[in-house]
Amino acid sequence: MDPARGVLPETDVLVRGTTIAAVGKRLSTPAHTTVIDADGALLLPGFVDTHRHMWQTALRGVGADWTITDYLEWMLTRWGPLFRPQDIYAANYLGMVEAVNDGVTTVTDWSHGSRTPEHADAAVDALFAVPGRARYAYANAFASDFGWVTGGHIDQLLKTRFAGADQLVTMQLALDILSGSEDARQALRFARDRDLRVGHHAGIFGMAGEEQIRFLAENDGLSPSTMLVHAAALSDDAYRRIADGGAHLSISSESELNAGQGYPPTAKARRHGIPISLSMDTVVWWSGDMFSAMPSTLSADRGLATCTPTKPARRSPTTRCAPRTYSSTPRSAAHGHSAWTTSSARSPRANGRTSSCCAPTPQR
Ligand SMILES: [Zn+2]
Repeated sequence: MDPARGVLPETDVLVRGTTIAAVGKRLSTPAHTTVIDADGALLLPGFVDTHRHMWQTALRGVGADWTITDYLEWMLTRWGPLFRPQDIYAANYLGMVEAVNDGVTTVTDWSHGSRTPEHADAAVDALFAVPGRARYAYANAFASDFGWVTGGHIDQLLKTRFAGADQLVTMQLALDILSGSEDARQALRFARDRDLRVGHHAGIFGMAGEEQIRFLAENDGLSPSTMLVHAAALSDDAYRRIADGGAHLSISSESELNAGQGYPPTAKARRHGIPISLSMDTVVWWSGDMFSAMPSTLSADRGLATCTPTKPARRSPTTRCAPRTYSSTPRSAAHGHSAWTTSSARSPRANGRTSSCCAPTPQR
């Protein structure tokens, strides 16, 4: 498919090495060319998943009915610390195979299970072991400070594994700064000094919101090198700051909706001119298939449009926004300063914060 030429039926594609050498009908091929008969199939570019926790592939499908509280408790508090480097390797390897098998040829591996240099090395080894394009997003959800950023291992990896100009596996940081501190400022500076892209989970209902965005904006932490994941529970002012900085969003609509993190902000991003990409987040909970992410995102976007009529018809049933209330509990020490606090979807009692998502309710 090509925006200018549309769908090209009964067309051949000639690949030479890693390059598409020609596209056309009845192409002549050099001797000994491997021919793949794709008659009746659709050939399309590989998908890009901009946020997937590959290390969690080891527990694929385990959390299909989880709330976010379950995820934080089991994945990050109880099971996560049990992962050994070889477990990370196995999970990342399987994660890459699964991604490629689903047509995801580029994936950002949000590797927040990299809790020691050995775990990080194992994650990187696995990404290199499977054909496919990956960006290793070095992260550590288990640290109590940003010592893992400045400790030397990132510089070592940059020199030893990521020095090539055109390699398929590259590196960025996933700092996940959810609240401000001097430590976090230093981590941002560290990334800027090395020209590394940075990602953060952001705008998560009950966990991170306006203050997070303000801190990033005031510390040169929102730029075209910044990706914010979810960014769902935010005000117009926050989206304005994101747009002004030039940052972009990774939207995991199944995750935002199912885990109660906020409503997928496609419409808000569009209104503010913020670029977006799609992602799957984790196969512990959802699939790794972008054919699942795409209709989910479209449904959420169109569902919101029907949920917020600007002028409801008189005397006809309509919908209105009903704020939901959640509570949050103090963060676990095991989650450290990155503030992976527990936002309880089970106990809707309250610290007064309400979600901005839209729940249809019948009007009397
Ligand atoms: Zn995530």
